[in-house]
Amino acid sequence: MAEVLEEHGTDRWNFSHLPEVVVFAESRDDVVAVMKFANERGIPVTTRGAGVGYVGGCVPVEGGIALSVVRMNSVVEIMPEDGVVVTQPGVILRDLQVAVSELGWYYPPDPASLNECSIGGNLATNAGGPRCLKYGVTKNYVLGLEVVLASGEILHVGGRCHKNKTGFDLLHLFVGSEGMLGVITEATLRIIPHPQTRAMLTATFPEFVDAAGAVQAILNSGHLPSALEITDEFTLKAARAYLGEGSLRPGKAHLIVEIDGRAKAVASELKELEEVLNFFLALSSEFHGAPGAAHAPGAQR
Ligand SMILES: Cc1cc2nc3c(=O)[nH]c(=O)nc-3n(C[C@H](O)[C@H](O)[C@H](O)COP(=O)(O)OP(=O)(O)OC[C@H]3O[C@@H](n4cnc5c(N)ncnc54)[C@H](O)[C@@H]3O)c2cc1C
Repeated sequence: MAEVLEEHGTDRWNFSHLPEVVVFAESRDDVVAVMKFANERGIPVTTRGAGVGYVGGCVPVEGGIALSVVRMNSVVEIMPEDGVVVTQPGVILRDLQVAVSELGWYYPPDPASLNECSIGGNLATNAGGPRCLKYGVTKNYVLGLEVVLASGEILHVGGRCHKNKTGFDLLHLFVGSEGMLGVITEATLRIIPHPQTRAMLTATFPEFVDAAGAVQAILNSGHLPSALEITDEFTLKAARAYLGEGSLRPGKAHLIVEIDGRAKAVASELKELEEVLNFFLALSSEFHGAPGAAHAPGAQR
């Protein structure tokens, strides 16, 4: 019992405050009942997904009820014909991505914690991640939400239509609202065709300014990588200390360029990108992944 309270009193941040009680909702009706009960008695409720946030959003700072939705973990419907997936909030992101990729479809948002984080948490934090350069963040994939308000009332916002452009945008008021406006109990999300293949190019540079120049040149020359991550000298030093001196090639800056698309296009784009990196004095560059390989359903990373 004490361990359950403790576990639900913190997230990946180092601040903790215990709830009085933890409720594991198994359905929307459970959420409605909890919210009505708490509202009538003035009891604080803090909604919790997987608890891997870094800013204490699911920490019950006022005590009261920690409302966990991890047991609401079913993918309700995958409909490639409509380009949508309907899901409960407790589904782990990786499980959703694998389920849609098995049908050749893709749900791109990934806040670098896909093995652990929940869809509800992603929605409530408008989670981003490395691939937002090309694919945007969670809010770009939300079509409709079912939300239980503090009073226990059920609200439906948005729908399942991709081009839903009229009226007040109440949907996006809830995305990124950190659980403060209601509990998300179901979400209708946009999915897109899965890229056939994915490949990565990494390089080290003499100075940070060279790597930064390469980043701008990549974009200026019309490439839109799925991810583009630059690492400075300070961070490289920490990585070498952790992984061992020989783990990363010499250089004061490091660049990761990830691209995806059709196999032939990816293969030729990699060559063009390597030329850009060499122009900016790359000390070393390496290919990762197999640009010729077709997309393997379920193989996400
Ligand atoms: C290694 C690592 C890397 C990360 N990198 C990134 C990154 O690049 N970008 C990024 O954005 N985040 C990043 N994060 C943070 C984390 O992945 C996201 O915040 C994620 O969305 C949290 O999901 P969760 O299910 O753990 O939510 P929780 O931590 O449980 O909750 C987060 C917030 O959402 C609310 N909430 C949860 N479920 C619901 C619901 N059903 N209805 C209403 N409100 C709800 C909670 O009250 C809380 O305010 C990273 C985390 C880790 C561990």
